Amino acid sequence: MRSLVLIGHGSHLNSESASAVFRYAELLRERGLYDEVIEGYWKEEPALRQVLRTTASTDVTVIPMFISEGYFTETVIPRELGLGHQGPVPPEGVARVLGGRTVRYTLPFGVHPGMADVILARAREVLPDAAPEDTALIVLGHGTTRNENSHKVIYSNADRLRESGLFAEVHALFLDEDPRVGTWPDLVRSRRVVVVPFFASEGWHTLETIPEDMGLRGEVTEFPDNPHGPQTVFYARPVGTHPAVANVVLSLAEEARSAGGRDGDVDRTHDAAWQAMMALARRGGRIGEVLLTPHSGVYELRHALDEGMGGAELQTVVTPEGLRDVTRRDAAGEHRPVRTYRTLPRGWRAVLSEAELRRGVHFLYPAVVEESYAHSCHSLRHTPWPTTARRQTGIYTRVQRATHDQVERVARTVCSPCLRTRLWAGEKLPRTFLDGVPGAFPCAEACTYFVAEVRETLISKRPTTASHDG
Ligand code: SF4
Repeated sequence: MRSLVLIGHGSHLNSESASAVFRYAELLRERGLYDEVIEGYWKEEPALRQVLRTTASTDVTVIPMFISEGYFTETVIPRELGLGHQGPVPPEGVARVLGGRTVRYTLPFGVHPGMADVILARAREVLPDAAPEDTALIVLGHGTTRNENSHKVIYSNADRLRESGLFAEVHALFLDEDPRVGTWPDLVRSRRVVVVPFFASEGWHTLETIPEDMGLRGEVTEFPDNPHGPQTVFYARPVGTHPAVANVVLSLAEEARSAGGRDGDVDRTHDAAWQAMMALARRGGRIGEVLLTPHSGVYELRHALDEGMGGAELQTVVTPEGLRDVTRRDAAGEHRPVRTYRTLPRGWRAVLSEAELRRGVHFLYPAVVEESYAHSCHSLRHTPWPTTARRQTGIYTRVQRATHDQVERVARTVCSPCLRTRLWAGEKLPRTFLDGVPGAFPCAEACTYFVAEVRETLISKRPTTASHDG
């Protein structure tokens, strides 16, 4: 048995930020090569601190869904997963045994040599007959003088594609360092020019900055008066959203596994937690704000306040992903970065098979089953605030300066809408939802939303409201 975990950045503010990782997880689930594919996030749930606990097997491969190496892949993710590794990740990845699981952590997908094929696939979408006689390729990266990894990956892909001989010329250009994208009319001589942005997703840069810097007016733009004669530019979509990235992810995962280890087993603690959950599901009951009812072979979930409403009055979803999508935003359409907030929207019902229920509950209340079970068994380790604060790096190091009173003031605002009980602050939770108290979930450690709010409070000396996403 084996588990694949995809790690994304996520966002406290924007529910679309996690979409690319969701989509790749779905593609990889469809391939069926792993017993489970799970997502974990820095800014959403399940958080990096929780995600390994949510895997069902003892063989776990973790792929950072980032376009290049850097602060997140080398510092934040290894630290939060507890890998005991900091700094550059070797090509074969990092393997550790953590809590009985073999965990393999790989390089980010963007640096895999297979990304050259993804660039080529994007180029062919906009110009299927690109030819070595008259077509130039520009691989376009963000670049930054602060981190050389950011440009290394662009140059190595440009080199690979130059060696392929499929284009008359191949250039690596950047938004934020030399050679800049705006210099292309002087550098590129070919009549036809394909531009492929080496970006993780569609966004401000791919939709606005690049077209503006290059003078593009859509997918195809004619430039009749360039220094080297008339040229036509074909502007491709970013590499990070191409479905072929799923192949790259699988290659990374298989290469990491071939470096050593064997297939895992079912993780017994995880299995016991879900047996406790299924016992609750079979008799029917509440989990948080949700009412769970068994019906011959399937389970119905709905907001507890919608109890008694007819099926026709509610939007019915029949997949765990459908349940995820209807519960990602609150009734006002706002993103819910903390899934245990009492802001679950009403007006839906999910009908799931027993096999789908685990993923459905995982999307609804990530890590809650595993943490509640561990709490019942007295094996859930609590991390007090000073330890969480000391672990922070980058822009969050300043939270180490927060006084006890400041932290408690933030908690009064940030944690009051949350179903979780702050064990990390010494609060007591005698029973959980598994023992029949629907809204009783443990919080073993301050979440990243809380940490970000403490930082905001220190910066602005203001009462808390969400405005962060760094
Ligand atoms: S820190 Fe507060 S808001 Fe965050 S999960 Fe824990 S109780 Fe909820």
